[in-house]
Amino acid sequence: MSYVIDMRLLGRTNIPVSRLCFGTLTIGPLQANLSVYEGASLVRTAIERGVNFLDTAELYGTYPHIREAIRGMNRSDVVLASRSYDYTYENMKDSVALALEAMDVEYLDLFMLHEQESALTLRGHREALRCLEDARDAGIIRAIGVSTHHVQCVRAAAFMPEIDVIHPLLNYSGIGIADGTVSDMLLAIELAHSQGKGIYSMKAIGGGALLRDVEGALKFAIAQPCVDSIAVGIKTVDELEMDIAIFRGLEPDKALRERTCLDKALIIEPWCVGCGKCVERCTHGALSIVHGRAVVDGARCVLCGYCQAVCPEVCMKVV
Ligand code: SF4
Ligand code: SF4
Repeated sequence: MSYVIDMRLLGRTNIPVSRLCFGTLTIGPLQANLSVYEGASLVRTAIERGVNFLDTAELYGTYPHIREAIRGMNRSDVVLASRSYDYTYENMKDSVALALEAMDVEYLDLFMLHEQESALTLRGHREALRCLEDARDAGIIRAIGVSTHHVQCVRAAAFMPEIDVIHPLLNYSGIGIADGTVSDMLLAIELAHSQGKGIYSMKAIGGGALLRDVEGALKFAIAQPCVDSIAVGIKTVDELEMDIAIFRGLEPDKALRERTCLDKALIIEPWCVGCGKCVERCTHGALSIVHGRAVVDGARCVLCGYCQAVCPEVCMKVV
């Protein structure tokens, strides 16, 4: 069986990427917590089936899985994107060095500023951007990007010459867009793409909230001509098969559909002590403390699992 998936150039970077990008957040400790062996096996299967684009972040804890997955491959057969929250030159330099070492590669295709909000936050990261420009000049990274849930950030980054790629949040229901509607985000993406920015979107299935309509959700993203690639969180071979079928325009098998279209949710265990650290961490305003315990607003939660990383009581899990 052939597994050909469409390829696109990522904006002006000239980097060819599969339209299906493997979002590795789901395999790491913040979500499914697969072992390095299991995660690497899944990522390798995806690569063998035509997915050449791997998305990660320093926060995700998936560098070891990727390292193992690409061991022995031609480096040019995969496109690696990562990101960090750093805003100083030195810390960004350390983050890029960590990614190179942890994934055992000599260069990264793309390194991004993580979770940017506006022209203001981009200005606040000017030293980190300067570091990434130096790394790009030195050939250590091929392109510079920003990831964002904000329309105004996409608009601002569209006109920043140092930024090559934007990784915006986009899904048909607008879940997780922080400052506007789906139409606002699409217009901003079109503007950025017209300026030569590569666009690969995130949260096409709302972090799992749209899993019951995964076909509709992915088809919406695939239909956007200005979206070069779509990062999709995958944690099982079944999900990979389902996503590949949809990206190839095929009708997924009924049994496969039933096995994969399961709801995801953020679980908060009863031993929560109400410290509020998760509330501070959630940039979607999805958490609050009610009667001494954290409570999640399902309409706002994008199931990213970032709050889990700061919980001192280890009582949060996306399942
Ligand atoms: S960080 Fe953990 S313990 Fe603290 S309020 Fe949130 S869920 Fe509860
Ligand atoms: S509540 Fe947690 S999982 Fe949901 S959006 Fe906020 S940080 Fe992400």
